[in-house]
Amino acid sequence: MSNAALSLTTPVERLPITERQARLLRDMGLTNLGRLLAHYPFRHERVEPESTIRGLIPGSQASTRGEITATRPVRLGKRPRFEAVLMDHTGRLDLVWFNMMYLKDQILPGMRLWVEGKVGVRGGGPQLVNPRWKVLDTDEPPPAEDQPEVRPVYPATEALPSSAILRIMRKVVPPALPLIEDHLGEAYCRVRNLPELREAYRALHVPVNLDEAAAARRRLAYDELLLLQLGVHLKRAHLREHLQAPSLPMTPQIERRIVARFPFDLTPAQARVLHEVAEDLGRESPTNRLIQGDVGSGKTAVALAGMLLAVAHGHQAALMAPTELLAAQHESSIRAMLRESRVRIARLTGSTPKPERAATLAALAAGNIDLLIGTHALLSEGVSFKQLGVLVIDEQHRFGVHQRSVIRARATDKLTTPHVLVMTATPIPRSLAMTLFGDLDISTIDALPPGRLPVQTRVFRGDRRDHVYAEVADQVRTGGQAYVVVPAIEPAALDEPLPGEQPLRDLKTVLEELRAGPLAGLRAEAMHGRLSQNERDEVMKRFREGEVQVLVATTVIEVGVDVPNASVMVIEQADRFGLAQVHQLRGRVGRGTRASVCYLIADPTTPDAEARLRTLATCRDGFDLAEKDLELRGPGELFGTKQSGLPPFRIADLTRDRDLLNMARRDAAEWIKTSPRLERPDETLVRRRLMKAYGSALGLGDVG
Ligand code: ADP
Ligand code: MG
Repeated sequence: MSNAALSLTTPVERLPITERQARLLRDMGLTNLGRLLAHYPFRHERVEPESTIRGLIPGSQASTRGEITATRPVRLGKRPRFEAVLMDHTGRLDLVWFNMMYLKDQILPGMRLWVEGKVGVRGGGPQLVNPRWKVLDTDEPPPAEDQPEVRPVYPATEALPSSAILRIMRKVVPPALPLIEDHLGEAYCRVRNLPELREAYRALHVPVNLDEAAAARRRLAYDELLLLQLGVHLKRAHLREHLQAPSLPMTPQIERRIVARFPFDLTPAQARVLHEVAEDLGRESPTNRLIQGDVGSGKTAVALAGMLLAVAHGHQAALMAPTELLAAQHESSIRAMLRESRVRIARLTGSTPKPERAATLAALAAGNIDLLIGTHALLSEGVSFKQLGVLVIDEQHRFGVHQRSVIRARATDKLTTPHVLVMTATPIPRSLAMTLFGDLDISTIDALPPGRLPVQTRVFRGDRRDHVYAEVADQVRTGGQAYVVVPAIEPAALDEPLPGEQPLRDLKTVLEELRAGPLAGLRAEAMHGRLSQNERDEVMKRFREGEVQVLVATTVIEVGVDVPNASVMVIEQADRFGLAQVHQLRGRVGRGTRASVCYLIADPTTPDAEARLRTLATCRDGFDLAEKDLELRGPGELFGTKQSGLPPFRIADLTRDRDLLNMARRDAAEWIKTSPRLERPDETLVRRRLMKAYGSALGLGDVG
């Protein structure tokens, strides 16, 4: 095959590899040269220098090869082991694998083997314990003189293992390199100390040492982050230019009227954020602002002020909550606050009965409802506003970028959209907020209303449970109320827990235990997601009124539930929850005047889990916890790109690549400043790659 014929779309069948290899590549979805190049290794491993058996130096990492001359499974003793003897022309090496008896069927006398590990000594001769190994093909060439010290490890299949993919890459990548065009200039890369794209692909697939493999990975990770940031900026610029929102300026008079509605003075932090919001709403371009603040910091009050601003201008406003429970709670607190006003309020959720729904929709379209409170049912078909000015979304992490586009699509007139305010009480690590929600401006309420007593957090082992509940009972008998949070609703099926793992504490069992034991005589009720809406409302109402004293619940109470008299929380198996989640949960207490305690019951089995519990006990700042959660669990678990609606990164890793993320963020901002639409001829390639990677996720379709 001549090189001239080669292109990135050349099918694998026409590459200089065997038919079988081509077929196996195709089975993995690697159908052409371009896709093959984009099959990134998931890591690079060091290849230890190969030596003869006699040349092995005790204490060093090394590899060698030879022939298996004897094998022996040993079942005596504490740990069964499999032993083998490897010989080459210089001597004998003992191999031993513990707890891997199955190797007796895989490693057989007469086989040629390559092994790698730390050289030990046994009976005067060299020995490797649990070495890495592979059977050598008869066609496997002896190691070359200039053998690289690093080897890419690829996602592979049984039929086409990583080593086979590597052999293909070594053959195919070098001639393909000239086909790769860089979307960043040579100088651009040089000042950032990043390799050019060709060099990056070369070093990724055919590296000579670990350093250049790492540099290659950085370049490709940087590209991913940069393209996303550029996409986000493009999207913003597009919205700003093409979409209109009603201008809703704040006047001193309107402000006085709004603020008079609140039974408290806004904190300075709330006032500052309200000012930022009002500034936005006064403009004719649609607002996209994230209001973040720790649990209980008073975000709702600020958002409500924004909604009332819309109403003051004769527009409608809507508040969308993640659960029916929260929608109901918002409705009742907002109704209380607006009791003597003319603001017309309605609620719309999935469980709104049909006739009522029809009436609400009609009133909404006619402009006879000023303020609509609901769940994602607000986005459903048939909901149309006469003139929606402000939409507030509570708890952003439960909604994605997509939902915000749906709202835009729901606007009656495609070019006029509401201002959107998003509230989140799961503080988004500062380092991530811009990446995941980069099309949002961010306001932070960074202080709590005055007079809050901090929640004390205490960690206990499971065998101290009785002590914990005795304290809970004391608190409740003196007029307090308590939450008990459990990780499951029903007992697990018998075969569920993995060996060595404790079964989950479930609501049914815990409630029975408590009623029969430590909380006997107190009124404890269950609350969970499988109850009907009516049942939940009923229980919640009775809890709010103090008739139910202890609420045994799943994490349905995680967000927003506000019962100031509840001052005690117990979280069972607290190590089963993420840091941010526990922080959310304990934010349900400490809302009134009683000193509050959160008991974490857990039997951590790893040092990691112990560290997490310690962090929870000592750290009260939701942002710090979110950062720590990110470090400990990675972004995926916290609220991965999945929730943000973006495709997962292929190579960038938000935990490890923070510096790259910052660099990409700054670079993208600079770039857009000089070229807001990426329309210069030398930007064609960047633009194309950006659209390919993120165009549909960011809804950039109409940006073109
Ligand atoms: P968030 O939504 O941020 O968790 P909320 O807006 O629900 O917080 O407010 C939590 C509680 O604090 C509510 O009971 C609210 O009435 C009260 N609150 C809000 N702002 C203030 C303030 N400035 N002073 C006193 N209490 C406040
Ligand atoms: Mg809230």
